[in-house]
Amino acid sequence: MKRRNFFKLSIPAVAGMSIHSCQVNDSSDHRVEDGKLIEKARQTEIKGRYDIIICGAGPAGVCSAISAARSGASILLVEVNGCLGGVWTAGLLSWILDWEDKEGLLAEITGKLIKDSGTPENYQGRNFPFDVEKMKALLEELCLETGRIDILLHTRLVDAVRREKDITHIITESKSGREAWEGEIFIDCSGDGDLAALAGCEFEMGDPETGLTQPFSMLAMISGVTLNEIEPFVRNNNDMSSKKRLLEQFTEAGLNPSIKTPGIYPIRNDLFMVMFNHVYEKSGIDTRDVTSATIRSRQEINVLVNGLKSIGGPWKNLYLVATAEHIG
Ligand SMILES: Cc1cc2nc3c(=O)[nH]c(=O)nc-3n(C[C@H](O)[C@H](O)[C@H](O)COP(=O)(O)OP(=O)(O)OC[C@H]3O[C@@H](n4cnc5c(N)ncnc54)[C@H](O)[C@@H]3O)c2cc1C
Repeated sequence: MKRRNFFKLSIPAVAGMSIHSCQVNDSSDHRVEDGKLIEKARQTEIKGRYDIIICGAGPAGVCSAISAARSGASILLVEVNGCLGGVWTAGLLSWILDWEDKEGLLAEITGKLIKDSGTPENYQGRNFPFDVEKMKALLEELCLETGRIDILLHTRLVDAVRREKDITHIITESKSGREAWEGEIFIDCSGDGDLAALAGCEFEMGDPETGLTQPFSMLAMISGVTLNEIEPFVRNNNDMSSKKRLLEQFTEAGLNPSIKTPGIYPIRNDLFMVMFNHVYEKSGIDTRDVTSATIRSRQEINVLVNGLKSIGGPWKNLYLVATAEHIG
């Protein structure tokens, strides 16, 4: 049957199915009861066994994986995004604060980025701007060269199995379906405490009275302008007055950003990271909130970038290079 004809035939059949039906599908054990879908019992294959399983491959997960692998442990590193680095890369936060006095892996990473032109030559001071693509490649290289880290990208941790107080397995979902992994030690580097929560640990979230957490922010990259042209509006180390001047530019464009301290951070002479927006009163563990915050943020960033461009002058060739995949 042709794909088009298949859809023609199957859509009315699905649309006509009652959601009150007890048997959703005759050929499975799934059923609906009291507004809940009761899933059939599953047998999930155990795909591997590791000394250490690390959930989340942001800065914490990657550095844990490399350190442990260098000590001889076998590692499984599970990451839902398509790259290593978390907020550093998928989040476009290409600007490390207070990097100079840090030792260990951070010093190794910044040293290699400097050597490999992963950062502008003229950077200075407390802040370390870096090239996101160089960072992605470097983190992959550092993990792979240990020969002991199995990386799973595009793979989400969805469950944890416990025997008494110890986690024994995790379950992941990906294009390979549901898979189980056995480990000796598990490290939660999800940034959100997903592993701990799935394992049944108690947690507190947000303000004790309101339950509210920090607002969402989406980072983005802009270009088409140079540091010389927009220097008064670019954040430079401790000087925060650039943010006030930038806010005045938005006002001149008739715009009122959701963040009152918008920032532009120089990455290269013609590439800048920007933090232009906040979305308040949304929950980071509600998928509808995360989705609406993501769409609203992207819309606002586009409006703000177009607004700056509309006032001309140094902004006349401004354009939006990318918005972050991962909102924080
Ligand atoms: C807009 C913004 C600005 C920030 N500014 C600063 C700053 O100036 N200085 C600073 O120190 N920090 C800043 N932070 C905080 C920054 O996020 C952290 O310092 C840093 O990213 C923490 O690293 P991490 O590895 O713990 O978490 P993350 O970078 O969040 O990495 C967690 C990783 O786990 C993955 N993950 C999550 N859940 C799952 C799951 N269920 N299955 C599989 N993978 C999963 C995520 O995709 C991600 O890759 C900022 C954050 C944001 C969002």
